[in-house]
Amino acid sequence: MNDFKTKDKFERPIISLRISITNRCNLNCVYCHHDGMVPSSDEMTPDEIYKVCQIAKRLGINKIRISGGEPLIRKDIVEIIEKIAKLNFKDVSITTNGTLLGKYADDLKKAGLNRINVSLDSLDPEVYEFVTKKDYLDKAKEGIIKSVEAGLYPVKINMVLMNGINENEVKDMFKFSKDHGIILQLIELVKSENCDDSYFSEKYYYDVNPLEENLEKIADEVRVREFMQNRKKYYIDGGELEVVHPIDNKDFCKNCTRLRISPDGKIKPCLLKNDNLVDFVKFIREDYSDEQLEKIFIEGINKREPFYK
Ligand code: SAM
Repeated sequence: MNDFKTKDKFERPIISLRISITNRCNLNCVYCHHDGMVPSSDEMTPDEIYKVCQIAKRLGINKIRISGGEPLIRKDIVEIIEKIAKLNFKDVSITTNGTLLGKYADDLKKAGLNRINVSLDSLDPEVYEFVTKKDYLDKAKEGIIKSVEAGLYPVKINMVLMNGINENEVKDMFKFSKDHGIILQLIELVKSENCDDSYFSEKYYYDVNPLEENLEKIADEVRVREFMQNRKKYYIDGGELEVVHPIDNKDFCKNCTRLRISPDGKIKPCLLKNDNLVDFVKFIREDYSDEQLEKIFIEGINKREPFYK
């Protein structure tokens, strides 16, 4: 039924591409894994990003997500989305901290952006500042509301759960989301050597298993998102909530359909690994043909293997 063009060695179709377009960020979140990227100041140009997407499309990828660092920090973000939108993907989205969305939401919508995920871990100014090291909570909330008004749909809030820091805010965040027609995504804290305090995730790790058991009980309906790491989506009192639960989760890896690209143009087969990167932009810069580029892209796909087997 689903005729995916390209599968990896583990029979997983490659459907989505997550492109990190910068390592720079205007926040400094205490737990941030920086999308697992190796530090580099090289950033692909809009034309190079377009070329990456063009090759991905030829190989059957139908969803593009732009991330970072903070993608909206790039002054050419609207141009980047405009170019990608020309390729008519099924879905083009951005993950952002939202602090610059007040400025860009309308232009991004006009440029062809379909939807947006905004990271927001707390509605409490003190907690927000503790986590992000900046007092931009109002800007982030303003950006979220502007995105809804601009017609980006759906808008999702990404909330990383931290024990003793924000796990007591789930109800409030769900209410805030529901009141604005937003889907809440609760994210399990991933251990990261990339962040300033590598012990943070051990100290504040929050086990999402009991939470999911409780959600199963209270939800009006539960759906499993096939080809989306088998994430569960809970429908409660007219609101929607998803749980992203990657740690020690073989099912998550088995159903992972995502490939990543670093800001400096390397194919990154897995969020949690950096020893199998494939340089790609190098060959765009050397004017390789589309057929040659496809082969290199497939090399990256062939390096994919489930982190938890
Ligand atoms: N700056 C953008 C933002 O804040 O959304 C995009 C980059 S950020 C690295 C992408 C997503 O990764 C955010 O939703 C963030 O909360 C999540 N993230 C970062 N570090 C994480 C960690 N250690 N565990 C779980 N999620 C994490």
